[in-house]
Amino acid sequence: TIVTRFAPSPTGFLHIGGARTALFNWLYARGHGGKFLLRIEDTDRARSTQAAVDAILDGLDWLGLEWDGDPISQFERKDRHAEVAHEMLRRGMAYRCYASPEELEAMKEEQRRQGLPMRYDGRWRDRDPSEAPAGVNPVIRLKAPQEGETVVRDHVQGEVRVQNAQLDDMILLRSDGTPTYLLAVVVDDYDMGVTHVVRGDDHLTNTFRQLQIYAAMGWTPPEYAHVPLIHGPDGAKLSKRHGALGVDAYRDMGYLPETMRNYLLRLGWSHGDDEIISTDQAKSWFNLDGIGRSPSRLDFAKLDNLNGHYIRQSDDARLVALVVPMVEKRLGRPLTESERARLLAAMPGFKPRVKTLVELADGCLFLFATRPLAMDDKAAALLTVETKAQLGELHALFSGLGDWTGAALEQAVRDFAERTGLKLGKVAQPLRAALTGSTVSPPIFEVAEVLGRTETLERIDDARK
Ligand code: GLU
Repeated sequence: TIVTRFAPSPTGFLHIGGARTALFNWLYARGHGGKFLLRIEDTDRARSTQAAVDAILDGLDWLGLEWDGDPISQFERKDRHAEVAHEMLRRGMAYRCYASPEELEAMKEEQRRQGLPMRYDGRWRDRDPSEAPAGVNPVIRLKAPQEGETVVRDHVQGEVRVQNAQLDDMILLRSDGTPTYLLAVVVDDYDMGVTHVVRGDDHLTNTFRQLQIYAAMGWTPPEYAHVPLIHGPDGAKLSKRHGALGVDAYRDMGYLPETMRNYLLRLGWSHGDDEIISTDQAKSWFNLDGIGRSPSRLDFAKLDNLNGHYIRQSDDARLVALVVPMVEKRLGRPLTESERARLLAAMPGFKPRVKTLVELADGCLFLFATRPLAMDDKAAALLTVETKAQLGELHALFSGLGDWTGAALEQAVRDFAERTGLKLGKVAQPLRAALTGSTVSPPIFEVAEVLGRTETLERIDDARK
């Protein structure tokens, strides 16, 4: 069975590129009835706080990328990593190197002087360990092959090769007994039974060395897919300067998790011309060979359009649940039961008009505003002596309405417009200003229905003054 993994280093947030890597691994596992494992690469103890780890788990949770089993801590596996290094020693695939830091510095200096590439020269590779200086803690280095080549057969990058002569004998275990990153990743992936490694192509050069470790242990390496990184809208490598880097920032901007799944999938993977791809479809369609070879660019217009689509598709009650906390924050008070009901009733009118939950929260605030409503400038300009008189007549008409429905309200306003020879818009716009404080809103008769008779009449009254 297929086993994939996501192996983030805790950086304080789930990076958008990491989220895409996680998504690809998750889709591949889910689409093949496999397992998706999570390994936290927490060997940098200063950065690996519980908060930093939680931020990653939260991001994955929010995206709906559930992992199998408990997250694995790389740090906690350090004894196992050391054990493998010693196993390689026993098999003659690794050796102890006693070179002092000063000695290595001098070696590098010499290489620099001669314009040679800087690499460890293998001075302890074949030396008799009995020559080891006393009191020096050695490092353990891989006895890497010096001839031939190492080849990565990558699902995205194709065949990538390097001459073994260009790779030096890497350190596996430091003199303090801690494993190096390259060793830890290989031992973890092997022990976790990982069959497919999908990760950023910034790790491609590590793969050569990791393959040498697999070979030294006689282990079968996984298959690889190295994914090009995500670039900003300007084509430059994504960085802080582009703004939103963490998945949490996208949540705060009001994007839905299903939008992000669809968007991140299309960012670097394609299925014909399909832009809207549901998660279920994605699970069955996703394949490693469909991953593009060139870096992909963030495109916020596309993201907005997709989000608009998923908001329209979304169940009204769910949207209410998502937007209520945002509304309450803006109002600085909790919503009452009847206000929540009002929001739910208004949702069909609101959701076709917005691209993000933030827009939705901002746009529905007028429903809960205290009277008299604050008017924006355009709305205020619509309230003239003439239109105030009109509103007075609408007030009388609405008071006498038997049936308080959008349809009945609309009929009443249409009849009024016909009778007075006014265009419908000329009557509806001042009404919109009176009820919403703005010149843009969901259909105004729906709004009036949702506000209810009392609130509608009172807002009209305020506007006439
Ligand atoms: N911890 C690495 C990173 O966050 C990933 C290593 C891997 O996937 O092998 O970039």
